[in-house]
Amino acid sequence: MAQTITMQRILLTAFCFVSLAAAAQSDHSHRMERSLKFPDIPGYNTLKCDFHEHTVFSDGSVWPDIRVMEALMDGLDAISLTEHLEYQPHKQDIPHPDRNRSYEIALQEAKDHDLIIVRGSEITRKMPPGHCNAIFIQDANKMLITDSVAVFREAKNQGGFVFWNHPNWIAQRPDGMATLTDFHRFLIKEKLLDGIEVANAETYSDEALQIGLDNNLTLMGTSDIHKLIDWDHDVPHGGHRPITLVFSKQKTADAIKEGLINRRTVVSYKDLLIGRDEFLLPLLQASVQIVSAKYEGKSNVLAVELENLTSATFTLFNKTGYTFHDHGDVVTIAPGGKTTLMVKTISRLESVALKFQVMNAVNAPHSHPDMVISGKVGQ
Ligand SMILES: [Zn+2]
Ligand SMILES: [Zn+2]
Repeated sequence: MAQTITMQRILLTAFCFVSLAAAAQSDHSHRMERSLKFPDIPGYNTLKCDFHEHTVFSDGSVWPDIRVMEALMDGLDAISLTEHLEYQPHKQDIPHPDRNRSYEIALQEAKDHDLIIVRGSEITRKMPPGHCNAIFIQDANKMLITDSVAVFREAKNQGGFVFWNHPNWIAQRPDGMATLTDFHRFLIKEKLLDGIEVANAETYSDEALQIGLDNNLTLMGTSDIHKLIDWDHDVPHGGHRPITLVFSKQKTADAIKEGLINRRTVVSYKDLLIGRDEFLLPLLQASVQIVSAKYEGKSNVLAVELENLTSATFTLFNKTGYTFHDHGDVVTIAPGGKTTLMVKTISRLESVALKFQVMNAVNAPHSHPDMVISGKVGQ
């Protein structure tokens, strides 16, 4: 009897998986493959990084090897398992005397793969300063320091890069407003704080972006994943985790750290791309390109096919000065998708330059940059 029920359950479970897989394929056949895509920019590799993740070695639910496998499925270049130093809720079941174990297990799992594992820890304090990640450190055990300033100095002595986590976290900021305190000003003045999360898990913060811009901090976006990436970021339906795109001279840990120190990042959060113009604009330029532009028959309406080379849906607001024959003034292009615009150029052109405001990009709170997409008109 027990066996029959078990068999029925297995069959039912198998059926559900097959149905889900079939539904995912039919509903989202236009979707890009799972691996996240963002093009390189002139002079730099665009590396996809998630520097804030948890496992059972702090308050996460999975073993470190699962984080490596998720990162490989998402096509990431680098991750860091940043276990809480001060919060160890599983320690009765999983004693954790060596705070470097999570990193070492991930490193072993990743050794045959093209994935960089960065050693890190989450300094977990009340606000202020709240939680901060120290990555590129040498020994997490030496970070077990009670004094709130001394722990930052130790991170820096180890060559660490330190960023402020979820400054908008409801548990520490009930109004959701990231707010700079005197303690943070002190850390910044002493060069003990290098970056700030503008996107964490399921949240984005305009206020954190403004703090980052005002204080010359590196803009960061992370998953802060505790359970499974697929569940929390709706991967089966086309979602993806927040990541930091680091513009790096090489694909090495040292080159990534150099890129972070020099603030060469853009944050990808859902469809939003968040960054300083210096790196955001070249990324946008590389992301949407003209595939073809041509007039047909006697028509003076130019058919321009645009392609989106990224994993973000692009939403473009028309500032060309032309009107379109088949669209209003808002044009969306799906991740990895193509869209043809019928542009009423009045007379025939030899080359075309289309100006758009990129509504899915922000270079400051409430500010969406413009871009010009240009190309030759063919036959
Ligand atoms: Zn935290
Ligand atoms: Zn965390």
